[in-house]
Amino acid sequence: MLKGIAASPGIEIGKAYVVKEETITIDKQVIPAEKVEQEIKRFDDAVKMSQQQLEIIKEKAEKELGQEKAEIFAAHLMVLDDVVFLDEVRGKIRGEFLTADNALAQVSDKYIAMFAGMDDEYLKERAADIKDISERLLKNILGLEMQSLADIAEEVIVLAHDLTPSDTAQMNKQMVKAFATNMGGRTSHTAIMARSLEIPAVVGLVDATDKAKNGDLVIVDGNKGVIYLNPDEATLADYKKQQEDYRQYVNELKELKDIPGMTKDGERRVELAANIGTPKDCAGALNNGAEGIGLYRTEFLYMDRSALPTEDEQFEAYKEVAEIMAPRPVIIRTLDIGGDKKLPYLDMPQELNPFLGWRAIRLCLDRKDILKTQLKAILRASHYGKLRIMYPMISNPEEVRKANAILQEAREELEQAGISYDQNLEVGIMVEIPSAAVIADILAKEVDFFSIGTNDLIQYTIAVDRMNERISHLYEPLHPAVLRLIKNVIDASHRAGKWTGMCGEMAGDTMAAPILLGLGLDEFSMSAVSIPRVKKVIRSLTYAEAKDVAEKALSLEKPEEIKELVNSFLANIND
Ligand code: PEP
Ligand code: MG
Repeated sequence: MLKGIAASPGIEIGKAYVVKEETITIDKQVIPAEKVEQEIKRFDDAVKMSQQQLEIIKEKAEKELGQEKAEIFAAHLMVLDDVVFLDEVRGKIRGEFLTADNALAQVSDKYIAMFAGMDDEYLKERAADIKDISERLLKNILGLEMQSLADIAEEVIVLAHDLTPSDTAQMNKQMVKAFATNMGGRTSHTAIMARSLEIPAVVGLVDATDKAKNGDLVIVDGNKGVIYLNPDEATLADYKKQQEDYRQYVNELKELKDIPGMTKDGERRVELAANIGTPKDCAGALNNGAEGIGLYRTEFLYMDRSALPTEDEQFEAYKEVAEIMAPRPVIIRTLDIGGDKKLPYLDMPQELNPFLGWRAIRLCLDRKDILKTQLKAILRASHYGKLRIMYPMISNPEEVRKANAILQEAREELEQAGISYDQNLEVGIMVEIPSAAVIADILAKEVDFFSIGTNDLIQYTIAVDRMNERISHLYEPLHPAVLRLIKNVIDASHRAGKWTGMCGEMAGDTMAAPILLGLGLDEFSMSAVSIPRVKKVIRSLTYAEAKDVAEKALSLEKPEEIKELVNSFLANIND
């Protein structure tokens, strides 16, 4: 058995198709000055050739995977149009007398490292896109052949070192039953594609391609994140049974799409919403039965560009989401930049503790212009659907008041200009700093709602960097301190007649769901694919049972005990 990361759920059994990684050798010699123009031409020709290849792949992807997935290639084509990127490569050829391949490798390595070093999982995985496009460029510079998975003619399980978005798009979908890769995380494009194609995938297997040969029998268990190579009879028989059970479970989940997140006894109804990063993610949200968007991370609008997005550009994006989701509510989070999410065009200082530094609302209150532009864009878009505004990283009531004062200015400016907006738009905050959770009663007076950001709340509460693998065993959503803070926030909001949602990863965790439900959480917002699973848990218990589990969980001392409690509880109700 090889252990990796569960990237897309499901179980498949089949024959291995192993994609071996090619090594590319870069010519690191310094070139003579008279060869500079020739190298630049080599680079420019490769850019053109890559553009042509990508146009073809994009068309194929549009037909086979839909508009949304084809956008990945539109993004790749944009990199090839990015003058800053292209000029940086040309500059290295001219200024440092590097070969075209060496110059390209250096520039793309810089961007890959920049994205890979980011805290945000989504942005981190964008390093894979730059890697994909620069590999294509490199192969075209060097005249190497592009490997294609389009020719697979029998049903297989693809095992690869890494699968780029273009590999995945070209793959013969009828024949590929599952993926397993050495590289990648849960939010890699391979994983995202596998989830949207609804085929099982395990990533991060480290050396699966060294251990497997073409034709080996493989079991991919995308639920547990493991694969088996040439399993024994007993394992195979066991997995055939599990595969059957899982298919039945998936069919049951599909039936849940349009029914509400309500407890078995009808006593408690919660809202199940999706987290999105761009308007394109709305399709997946709706497909999984999202009743709204609980977190729209707007930072992506600000990244991958050389200047701040204008009010109109932002308005278009927010309006698109508002219209697609209407009449469902959409919570737009104002810019959460800083920490390690830097914007190259903002003058952001080096800090000793960036996560405790000038980020999110702190930065926005100092750069009032940025916040006001964004708020005006959101207000304008609110005319087209049901939008809500949410401020990130609030630590005290003063910050809410200051942000609301800027919001008031934005409202007045729009009124003077005769532009209509939703006068009843709700304004809330993320509770992701322990101080905010502790003084939730004070903050409740300033807001219409709370949304608990457990990703940060956990890291700050337990003082455990959410990206540091060495201490990841301490990162524990079910730590009693975290549960107590969550309870405090929910109770304080309810006492003030307000509501509380959750948009951190914990909201999509089926283990946490009974406790959160029992604590009275009103809205759960998560990655879209998790919605039916959480809904199934919620629908399988009564509100009294959930309250009982929550109360018992709060009386326990250790996360392990809490997990045991939930596990035995879930096992009982599933019987
Ligand atoms: C959180 O902190 O839980 C959250 C949802 O925000 P982000 O993951 O974008 O920091
Ligand atoms: Mg956060």
